[in-house]
Amino acid sequence: MSKYHALTEAEAIEYARGIAGVFPAGAQLQSREIGDGNLNLVFHITDPASGKSLILKQALPYAKVVGESWPLTLDRARIESEALRIEGELCPDLTPKVYAYEPDLALTVMEDLSDHIIMRRGLIEKNRYPRFAADIGRFLARTLFFTSDLAMNLQQKKLQVKSFINPDLCKITEDLIFDDPYTDSPNNSIEAHIRDAAEAIWADKELHLEVALLREKFLTKAQALLHGDLHTGSIFIKPDSTKVIDPEFAYYGPMGFDIGAVIANLLLNYAGQEGWSPDAAERADYRRYLLDTVQGVWTEFERNFRALWNEHAADRMARTPGYQDVYVAALLQDTIGFAGCKMVRRVYGLAHVADIDRIEDAAARERAQRLALAIGTALIKRNRSARSFDEVLDIALTAA
Ligand code: ADP
Ligand code: MG
Ligand code: MG
Ligand code: MG
Repeated sequence: MSKYHALTEAEAIEYARGIAGVFPAGAQLQSREIGDGNLNLVFHITDPASGKSLILKQALPYAKVVGESWPLTLDRARIESEALRIEGELCPDLTPKVYAYEPDLALTVMEDLSDHIIMRRGLIEKNRYPRFAADIGRFLARTLFFTSDLAMNLQQKKLQVKSFINPDLCKITEDLIFDDPYTDSPNNSIEAHIRDAAEAIWADKELHLEVALLREKFLTKAQALLHGDLHTGSIFIKPDSTKVIDPEFAYYGPMGFDIGAVIANLLLNYAGQEGWSPDAAERADYRRYLLDTVQGVWTEFERNFRALWNEHAADRMARTPGYQDVYVAALLQDTIGFAGCKMVRRVYGLAHVADIDRIEDAAARERAQRLALAIGTALIKRNRSARSFDEVLDIALTAA
């Protein structure tokens, strides 16, 4: 089974059987392909008798959404397994355990997290996750700080940048986030009732300049090893546990891109409450919770990040007085700008979010879409002048 081919369920079972120390000899294993993504197969392998289980994730050489016409390198499976290893060393409680990586098959074998749910679904069900802000703030601070020049040996960091060159996946981001939404691209998927809002964005020159500057940071600012796709669909959660999965977009980029992704997806759900909370008081209450969480993500990130910097700065230059404050002020601005970009593209770009798309009532869905665009574009326009995270909350409150 070493030459690459997409595994069948039977082959996935055979492969899982070979992972030492998981299943008892002779176990009657079952397999189900549960991938909801567009780029990979995900096999859930279970042994009903022992209750043991595993996940096998296999990269496909093309994007499923458009058939085989959109080729994608299998090297992203290496990148994902390497990123999972690094994230696992820095935040063992916040990542799935990786049992094996098989490069020829582009296959990662990992811990089954089926006792968690995907956070996007959890937010649509209006659950509350009191640990989330602290967990993700620590994840962001540790993964971003320890993979940056602030903490690493400078030469080692350059070698690490090289092993995370991820052009195919970065191109997806460059096209879908920083290009298509700002023009009448065939990749967009625009509901007729918001076409006027999309057209207003295509004509907004002030907005285009900000997006061009943010794209430049995405292209050139090799600040830290990013997860690269840190939306609420990449987070498994339950009230007492948070796990970050799916870092196949990992590359060296601007820290604010990951922080902004988390914040954008919380705000997309905030906008979606037009549909999920018909009762005004209930809507206000859940939105309050979401904004507290948005604030908490930044606060916990900043607190952890500054503490790590104070304790683990790699060299004399990193300890230069004043440097940390200037750095964090720039991170705030990047976070706000990238959060805005992440929101806009999810309303009418190629891939939407269930928080808004699954709202059945067309009028409520339209209100949610317009609100998400209003918040997203305001964040983008504010990014370079922002001085305080309160501005994000103000924008969200004023727009709603
Ligand atoms: P993709 O890159 O294709 O989006 P993901 O890694 O996000 O793949 O996985 C797709 C889906 O497979 C997840 O939304 C989840 O339902 C399931 N899945 C992935 N990893 C695990 C895991 N470790 N445990 C349980 N389910 C998983
Ligand atoms: Mg997915
Ligand atoms: Mg995914
Ligand atoms: Mg993925």
